[in-house]
Amino acid sequence: MSAVEGPDLVVAGAGGGLVAALRAASLGLSVLVVERNEHFARGNNTAMSTAMVPGAGTRWQREAGVEDSPEQFLADVRAKTHGEADERLAAALAGVSARLLEWLADDVGLPLSLVTDFGYPGHSAYRCHTVPGRAGQAMLADVVRAVRSSDLVDLMVPARLTGVEEGDDGVLHAVVDTPNGEERIPTRAVLLATNGFGADRELVAEHLPEIAGATYHGSEGSTGDALRIGERLGAATAYLDAYQGHAALTPAATLAGWATVMHGAVVVDVAGRRFGDETTGYSEYAAALQAAEGGRGWIVLDERVHEACLSFTDYRDTVESGVTRTADDAAALAAAIEVDPEVLAATLEAARASAADGTPDEHGRTRWEAPLEAPYRAVPVTPALFHTQGGLVVDEHARVLRADGSAVPGLYASGGAAAGISGHGAAGYLAGNGLLPALGLAFLAAEHLAGH
Ligand SMILES: Cc1cc2nc3c(=O)[nH]c(=O)nc-3n(C[C@H](O)[C@H](O)[C@H](O)COP(=O)(O)OP(=O)(O)OC[C@H]3O[C@@H](n4cnc5c(N)ncnc54)[C@H](O)[C@@H]3O)c2cc1C
Repeated sequence: MSAVEGPDLVVAGAGGGLVAALRAASLGLSVLVVERNEHFARGNNTAMSTAMVPGAGTRWQREAGVEDSPEQFLADVRAKTHGEADERLAAALAGVSARLLEWLADDVGLPLSLVTDFGYPGHSAYRCHTVPGRAGQAMLADVVRAVRSSDLVDLMVPARLTGVEEGDDGVLHAVVDTPNGEERIPTRAVLLATNGFGADRELVAEHLPEIAGATYHGSEGSTGDALRIGERLGAATAYLDAYQGHAALTPAATLAGWATVMHGAVVVDVAGRRFGDETTGYSEYAAALQAAEGGRGWIVLDERVHEACLSFTDYRDTVESGVTRTADDAAALAAAIEVDPEVLAATLEAARASAADGTPDEHGRTRWEAPLEAPYRAVPVTPALFHTQGGLVVDEHARVLRADGSAVPGLYASGGAAAGISGHGAAGYLAGNGLLPALGLAFLAAEHLAGH
């Protein structure tokens, strides 16, 4: 199909970008994927993720009797972002989400299912889909397997995209740094799927000062390359202050997960006090935890919540890491986590009372699956930055746009490289709205290039 000497599409970044490679190949296009990190399959954000991908109107939802639609999903995005999200992009991603997931299951072979044991904050329907073990590494491994078995996709690793330039012949070139020197690869189009700038401390301090002091728990490859490459081509940027935070990272660098909270756990500071409604969302709770006394805290749960969370590889890793404290009652728990026993007992009693009769607690929390019962467990947690959500402005086909709204010819962006759909700051992030722009924009870019 290509009128140029090289592949139809160069994808930079072997995370969510691999979906573009597979979708383009399924439509007859040739693809070269360039990836800077030899260990990408366990080091990038897609591999580190919990593999929760939202889809509205999927067959799994219909089978489970869950009513949902792209419009309902869009309304949830609007509500969570207070209307600040890029409406056109959010509508495009909500609209493609079911088709994307069904294609990933049917054509790529991902063993997807709908999560129905608990609901994430802000989603008005069960719409997060995942793989067994709820682990991104397993999901990405299946995608990589499909890429390696495709005749139309080549993978070049390590190879770092450093620029996209138009040659004297008017043909686009992907400029790639390899161990053998620089290569210039002629191509019809380039997809920037290189994620955001979470690993660049200076950019984080400049754009996200409220979370700059927190632990960065994301891909080391997220150094903002797409921003630099895109800006040289006149691309517009937006939402650079947007990020996904998390308040459930443990000192063992494992993720306790917010399913703990949604099943009824509470988060206390180092004094044993709660400091907000945890069910508003884990992303914004990172900054809240950072601002709380001690800047760190504990998730307090019971055996019922513990059992419910064992379906998560991340949670099992947390238990196996040995960071969890266990205690027969509130007094023993206070001793184990070194807080005032009276304060902790009062905190747990107030939470119990609210959970038992459903009245809002002092922080306005009304979502409790059930009251917490002794014996207890406590997991130490620190605030973290997981990934940035601002980046290059793209349209509903993932085409990179200039400030005047025109498209940069041949340039697409997806995932953390592109401006997302979470509005500003951390509070607009809905679970799954990291992977949906990563997989969904990659999918849409491939279809646009193929004229599908
Ligand atoms: C612990 C954790 C849990 C998460 N859980 C979820 C979840 O359940 N659901 C959800 O929606 N989101 C989740 N997220 C967020 C989600 O992981 C990201 O939003 C998403 O994976 C981003 O995908 P990506 O393709 O943009 O980036 P990545 O998956 O990071 O891929 C980018 C790739 O580009 C490579 N690269 C960088 N620069 C270059 C270059 N110049 N040339 C070539 N290659 C380059 C990198 O090495 C990397 O392999 C989670 C994040 C973390 C950290």
